[in-house]
Amino acid sequence: MKFFVPITMGFVCPMCNTYHTLTVELEQYLNYLSGELVQDAFPHMSPTDRERFISGLCPDCQKEIFKEF
Ligand SMILES: [Zn+2]
Repeated sequence: MKFFVPITMGFVCPMCNTYHTLTVELEQYLNYLSGELVQDAFPHMSPTDRERFISGLCPDCQKEIFKEF
């Protein structure tokens, strides 16, 4: 039996100071803390959410920064 245990993380965007949250699975988060790479610990996380997790940048600011790519 496997349970999905969601944990919600809060971030303050370093560019615009917007507070935003990201919900991840506890087990995956523990994998991350034990040394797994973000993309291995959270294989289903979208690139935008991954960037939020790593840098705390909100989706709007990510669009600003990465729009030229
Ligand atoms: Zn922002």
